[in-house]
Amino acid sequence: MSLKAIGVVGAGTMGAGIAQVSAAAGYEVIMRDVTEEFVNRGRSVIEKNLARSVSKQKMSQEQADALMGRIKCTTKLEDLAECDFVIEAIIEKMELKKELYRELDKICKPQTIFASNTSGLSVTEMAAVTSMPNKFIGMHFFNPVPVMKLVEIIRAAETDDETVEVTRELVRKMGKEPIMVNEAPLFAVNRILVPMLNEAMFVLMEGVASAEDIDKGMQLGANHPIGPLALSDLIGLDTLLMVCETLYNETGDSKYRPCPLLRKLVRAGHLGRKTGRGFYKY
Ligand code: NAD
Repeated sequence: MSLKAIGVVGAGTMGAGIAQVSAAAGYEVIMRDVTEEFVNRGRSVIEKNLARSVSKQKMSQEQADALMGRIKCTTKLEDLAECDFVIEAIIEKMELKKELYRELDKICKPQTIFASNTSGLSVTEMAAVTSMPNKFIGMHFFNPVPVMKLVEIIRAAETDDETVEVTRELVRKMGKEPIMVNEAPLFAVNRILVPMLNEAMFVLMEGVASAEDIDKGMQLGANHPIGPLALSDLIGLDTLLMVCETLYNETGDSKYRPCPLLRKLVRAGHLGRKTGRGFYKY
């Protein structure tokens, strides 16, 4: 199956990066968000990333212009009708995702593959609201998308082999490495990573160490490239809370309860880098 046009739904932290790497791989991209403001914000993130690459001489101005020319921005879901592959990166809420897939199912061609970038919700549950659950897969990118090499590919209950192969091939064309994961709450990487981030927040909340020292400790003592609290700010604390809640609710295991400090910051609207304040100020 040869892909031409890729739809990206959601132009936030992840969607903008996914649109960028899709266009860099040579595909026509249609990026959709709900308002002009959101979709333009996604576009300007990509423009800034490309300007940085040009200034570092990683690409020419012509290449950057050509890449940008392959990305069309829209607020209309119907504009994704001709896409062969649609990657969804909207807010981490099952009901909103299902509502979107019900609409996409009516708009897109039956052979279109739907891929969710969910951090850990059930891909099988999303697939079940479409008429072609065999063409549904999880495609979990890491943040920041243009930099991080890994994509977890999640096989849902009814995903067929062709869908897995097409997705694996697409991941490689994007210059990334896939790993295969069977569906389970938070998949493989976040199942390990997220409890560690949550634990760092408990360490901060209990006054064991300062935010700076927790991050310094994990960087210098465990060789992590970024500390857990700085990483949480980068992920977005609202998204992280939803992901923590998925693991807690799906397993019912108290060891996964989200740290109250995380909940408090989210309630205060301090969502990390994207709002200029989280565990740190930006
Ligand atoms: P975000 O809040 O930065 O962006 C979400 C965007 O989706 C917003 O711009 C919002 O307006 C838009 N949106 C909401 N409903 C929509 C709809 N119906 N159609 C189109 N756009 C819609 O969130 P994010 O961090 O980019 O996360 C998106 C998804 O990616 C989530 O499922 C999240 O769990 C997952 N994810 C996030 C990270 C991360 O580090 N942030 C990493 C991997 C996966």
